Amino acid sequence: MSPQVKVFKFGGASLKDAEGIRNVGRIISSYTNDNQLVVVVSAIGKTTNALEDVVDAHASGSGEAMERLNTVRDAHLSLASDLLPDHHPAFPALNDAFVEIEWVLEESPYDNYDYMYDQIVSIGEVVSSLLVAAYLETIGIPAKWLDARDVIITDNHFREGWVLWPQTRDRMERTVRPLIQPGGVLLTQGFIGSTTENFTTTLGREGSDYTAAIFSFCLDAEDMTIWKDVPGVLTADPRLFENVSKLDKLSYREAIEMTYYGAKVIHPKTIKPLQNKSIPLHVKSFLHPSEPGTIISSDVEDHYPPMVAIESSQALLHIATRDFSFVAEHHLSQLFQKMADLRLQVNMMQNNAISFAVVVTDFAGRVDEFVQSIDHDFKVLIDRDLELITIRHALDSVLDELKKGRIILLEERSRNTIQMVVKEAPVITRKPR
Ligand code: ASP
Ligand code: MG
Repeated sequence: MSPQVKVFKFGGASLKDAEGIRNVGRIISSYTNDNQLVVVVSAIGKTTNALEDVVDAHASGSGEAMERLNTVRDAHLSLASDLLPDHHPAFPALNDAFVEIEWVLEESPYDNYDYMYDQIVSIGEVVSSLLVAAYLETIGIPAKWLDARDVIITDNHFREGWVLWPQTRDRMERTVRPLIQPGGVLLTQGFIGSTTENFTTTLGREGSDYTAAIFSFCLDAEDMTIWKDVPGVLTADPRLFENVSKLDKLSYREAIEMTYYGAKVIHPKTIKPLQNKSIPLHVKSFLHPSEPGTIISSDVEDHYPPMVAIESSQALLHIATRDFSFVAEHHLSQLFQKMADLRLQVNMMQNNAISFAVVVTDFAGRVDEFVQSIDHDFKVLIDRDLELITIRHALDSVLDELKKGRIILLEERSRNTIQMVVKEAPVITRKPR
């Protein structure tokens, strides 16, 4: 019988410094017995943001791109010096990866921003995985390094590649499956894939969780674990709310609902592939690895406490026809086609006789592109910088609290979910006499 595959994902926060990487090494070594581990790592710390700055500097011609890239390179080389013996072959490998980006920066910026973005930003995951693989080997865990771009095949929608499942499954069967063995560790990187023509794509910000789910699905993993800096899935974001509590277990359905609308703990695309094969997902703390965390598994509905997710950067668009006719089905179909082409995430909508209101995530200039593309037929009013608040299993007391100091622009209720799009209300306070 072939060994069971376990898939682990470590995000940037767990790898942010040498001590973090050592800790990840300890966690991995405590699981390498009869299992085959597939370990997916993200870029180190806030590297992806730093690389986005490199892209922007290059695109704007500010002249700072190379300097910014050097800052990222220095951080990685200094980590490598901390973790690896001198003259380890990982040093030239890291260097080569950065030199490839230097070549990109020496040319004038591409017209296609999203394409250029993926070629540059993907390096974060490449170098972090090289570094972690080399470190594991130095502590006696022989990890095979795998370039995820050889197996995760996407369409050519840069910055948000959609997985081509048949091709991806086929590559996994042919190149990854034969590597599976008891006690084996396969170290790969999240977030990146490649088109059928071998151009690097990315799967969308925070997409490494999704990568781990793709591996889990294709390899029929026994389970998958996301190692986080929080104890598990919480009822709300602890950076925004007091009195949050950890959920011990959660159904796939519940997890999909919450992550889709902004619960930042897991990337929203992660759950579906796992649900399709009933692969349990553990969310655990890398700081307290022996604690149970949260387990997300089959759809047993439970009595859940109220849960809150907040998604910022929302835009509310009121769309009306230029000739003041009703917004009819053929208009809607035209609007939806355009939104789908631009991969706008539609979070809420409401249709009235003469206008259609839709709430979308205001990302990468796509809202402006959308508005421009329909300008000929439609008049659009936009409200930006809004928050989408989603409450599952609401209690009145929780709702009252959330509404304080906010103007509600759109609200929708269904059986277990209340959603509202809000903007902060200017607080009027009386002056002291
Ligand atoms: N490094 C990528 C990001 O920061 C992917 C990830 O962390 O999941 O968005
Ligand atoms: Mg991350």
